[in-house]
Order: sequence, then C-alpha cells, then structure tokens
Amino acid sequence: MVDPIFDYQFRLILIGDSTVGKSSLLRYFTDGSFAEVSDPTVGVDFFARLIQVHDGTNIKLQLWDTAGQERFRSITKSYYRNSVGALLVYDICNRDSFQHIPVWLMEARRHIEPYRAVFILVGCKLDLVHENRNNREVTTEEARRFAEMHKIGFVETSAKTGHNVEDAFNGVAQEIYDKIRSGEYSLEDGWDGIKKGYFGLQPGGRSVRTSSVIGGRMSIAEGEPAHDHCC
Ligand code: GDP
Ligand code: MG
Repeated sequence: MVDPIFDYQFRLILIGDSTVGKSSLLRYFTDGSFAEVSDPTVGVDFFARLIQVHDGTNIKLQLWDTAGQERFRSITKSYYRNSVGALLVYDICNRDSFQHIPVWLMEARRHIEPYRAVFILVGCKLDLVHENRNNREVTTEEARRFAEMHKIGFVETSAKTGHNVEDAFNGVAQEIYDKIRSGEYSLEDGWDGIKKGYFGLQPGGRSVRTSSVIGGRMSIAEGEPAHDHCC
C-alpha cells in the first residue's frame, strides 16, 4: 500500500484519566465511528490520518493511544518521548478527571523535555451534559481559564456526535506547523516528534514513497518499540 504524499509527520499523544474518552476521540477522528462500549486495554495503539493545514500543506498525524496504562498512571517515558503534541483529555461530567489535568500536564512536560510540545485541553462527552439535570461538573469558563493560564488551546467535544473533534486535532496540528514556520520548532536528529515526509528516488532509481501506517501496536512496557512500523 502506498501513502498519500505528506509534507510532515507530527506525532501526537492523548493523555488523561481512564474512561474520559481518549480512545473514543481517536476512533471518531480516524474512522468517524463511536462505540458505547470501549475496551480500555484492547486495541490498536497508534493510528494515522492525513490532514491539511491552512496553506494546504499535507500533514500526517501519527496518533498514539494508551492501552490502559493510564488506569494506574503507569505510562512510561517512551509514550511521551518523541511527541510534539498532546491532547489533555478530561470528562466534562467528571470533576476528578479535570482536577488531575495539571498532573498530566506536568508529567508530559517533564518527559518530553528537552523538546516542547503543543498542548490542547479537551473536555469530552459534551453530548451527555444536560443543563437541567445539572450533571456538568466542569464549567466551560473554568476550563477556559485554566487553558489561558497555561497558554494552551481549549475545546469541548463529543465523540458521539463528532462535535469539535476535528477542531481538537486540527488546532494542535496548525499550531505545531506555525511553530515550524516561525522557526520555533525544528526537525531534530534522533527525535521523531516532527518528521519530514518524502517522495523520491531510492539508489538504483526506484521511485518510493514512505510506507503506509494506519495503525499498529508497540510494546511500551519495555520502553522501546517491539517492532516499529513507523515510517
Ligand atoms: P478512555 O479510557 O479515555 O480511552 O475512554 P473511552 O474512549 O474508552 O471511553 C470510556 C466510555 O465513555 C466508553 O463507554 C465510551 O463509549 C464513553 N464515551 C467516550 N466519549 C464519549 C462521548 O463523547 N459521549 C458519550 N456519550 N460517551 C462517550
Ligand atoms: Mg482508552
């Protein structure tokens, strides 16, 4: 299978308490579907989707999900390493999950250093909020204030209706791209957060594109990929 041409690949991660809706967000973004029952431990760990930023540049997003490690806050450094963007995910109807966001943010920054990532705060399950049932546990205002204080983006989404799901991922990608254009971010040897796509000639003259990845699984427990399909 051959990849569509892309100019850059950005590697993004999703972090936050278990059951807040990370896998559902990814599922909706990559295949447009929603599942009421979603197994926390089984599934594909990374996905990819091609998007375009405002000037038409093609970006391949490589999107990493956890396979349940976040239940025990046992996510290893290798999950964070090589990421240039992170979605900080909480459930709008679960106050604890919002209160843990600063911890997730600190943890991610600590592990991503010396590199810097673009973060966006994502409130999930907006479709479940019924103002007359009073089940919203995190107000839009307080979440926005948190995001402004930390100078990061913010959006409320639903993986059931698809509301704002595109905006969450596209917003991060656009911000990363803008930082590349302004020179704030650059490609670094030995770091996979940002990679340049290519479409060229191999020695011997055979024309190649980068290999295709739509999903895969890596062993995170060991800290290193068991097998890396990445291109
Ligand atoms: P994760 O542990 O953070 O990956 O959370 P999941 O994506 O597995 O979601 C946990 C549960 O919440 C599942 O039963 C999902 O169907 C449900 N869920 C996730 N996102 C939404 C949403 O936007 N709306 C509704 N109604 N349910 C959601
Ligand atoms: Mg999950």
